[in-house]
Amino acid sequence: MIAENLAEINNRIKKATEKSPQINKDVTLVAVSKTFPSSSIREAYQAGQKIFGENKVQEALDKIDECKDLSEAEFHMIGHLQSNKVKYIPGVFKLIHSVDRKSLVKEMHKRFYREGRKQDILVQVNLALEEQKGGVNQTNLDDLLEYILQCNSLNLRGFMLMPPFLENPEDNRYLFAKMYELFAQYKDQFEKSGTEGFDTLSMGMSADFEIAVEEGSNMVRVGSKIFGQRNYNK
Ligand SMILES: *Cc1c(COP(=O)(O)O)cnc(C)c1O
Repeated sequence: MIAENLAEINNRIKKATEKSPQINKDVTLVAVSKTFPSSSIREAYQAGQKIFGENKVQEALDKIDECKDLSEAEFHMIGHLQSNKVKYIPGVFKLIHSVDRKSLVKEMHKRFYREGRKQDILVQVNLALEEQKGGVNQTNLDDLLEYILQCNSLNLRGFMLMPPFLENPEDNRYLFAKMYELFAQYKDQFEKSGTEGFDTLSMGMSADFEIAVEEGSNMVRVGSKIFGQRNYNK
């Protein structure tokens, strides 16, 4: 089942990519395995999927341990990250998608620097100005990016967007487009100033990954369409 789902998602990503050949070549699929057991990760891995997304530190640590024989597997942190959990994560995640505030950056730099590590990160942007939602507002974005660039243990790789949940995902298309525009603008700016590696735009989930890819995403985070419905209260 998981193998078939993966094949279908990959196929649909490819089709969406072909709709916007001027912006997208390679789209990376992050299989969001949160709430699912490590046996599901194994099943996906055997079907060729190597990148997995988790949203809770402890759950991720447990599963990564259970999957340590999967030599090519890599894990991304995609959920809200509490500062008091940062001490557990140096060397754990290939990419952290959810960096959104100075206090978190400060704690991350402290811990990663101490261990002599360099961590790839994305900055989560809250474009729709939703309250009680992770992500930095556009007005504070410049300030946060400047702060991150001073931290040599952190490697700024791009942006992540988590749009509002809407009945009709087409209603978020303009947000994906706006996010891409902002991403392209910063990418250009960073390239001109010699800051390397800003190349990743993480947006799109099960309900809207095709729209996101059409609008310029090059990393999608798909969970339920691969692993099935999540059960949060088991
Ligand atoms: C759960 C989650 C996803 C995947 O959601 P699906 O709708 O199951 O594809 C993507 N991104 C983040 C940040 C998530 O927490």
